[in-house]
Amino acid sequence: MAERSPVLVFSAHAADFVWRAGGAIALYASRGHRVRILCLSYGERGESPGAWKQPGMTIERVREIRRAESERAAELLGAEVRFLDAGDYPLRASDSLVETLVGEYRSVRPGLVLTHSHDDPYNPDHPMASRLSLDARVYAQAEGYPLPGPALGAPPVCMFEPHQPEQCGFTPDVLLDVTPVWDRKRAAMDSMQAQQHLVEYYSDLSRRRGTQAVRNSGRRDIVHAEAYQRVFPQVASELA
Ligand SMILES: [Zn+2]
Repeated sequence: MAERSPVLVFSAHAADFVWRAGGAIALYASRGHRVRILCLSYGERGESPGAWKQPGMTIERVREIRRAESERAAELLGAEVRFLDAGDYPLRASDSLVETLVGEYRSVRPGLVLTHSHDDPYNPDHPMASRLSLDARVYAQAEGYPLPGPALGAPPVCMFEPHQPEQCGFTPDVLLDVTPVWDRKRAAMDSMQAQQHLVEYYSDLSRRRGTQAVRNSGRRDIVHAEAYQRVFPQVASELA
């Protein structure tokens, strides 16, 4: 990845990027990369149980709460965030949404893309977000697609870890050491009040992935890691 290339992150809901890719986001931001997160929806229906338990809650208020939490988390991670408010349960593809995503690719020109896994039987919005992010990338590469900006190159795409990887066909081929930015990820997770039940789950997961990273590298300094799976083959000049 070229020095200081932007990173583009696709998040179906307001908090997916925090649990699943918060370490990568904080890591690249800390190295001076622009990190831009696209939240396709607020997860107002499907992923806001804490907010809905409050008396007198309305869908509009849930959206406001999730947006505020998500903005705060992105700030803690050092990233910018755009909310597309495309709805959840279900998140649906529309021509205007696809065009917006293609425009993001053409203007941001990412050197790395992070997105959801291809499958997730627990939440259909996640594979939809994955599909949209990959389709828009291909359209942005087409010379004839009628949007401003030169055609996109071929930024690598890494899928972040779903909640139950075995059921989602997710097999990691990258373990990213996020130990140096773990405090930032933990602070961002703590800020997601509507889903506090997930904080310890993802803290435990990062330690398990960290232990596996040590086993696969021999590096004893790794404590926390995130798992990723590449969509396309990695292009390299050497194998080791
Ligand atoms: Zn989600």
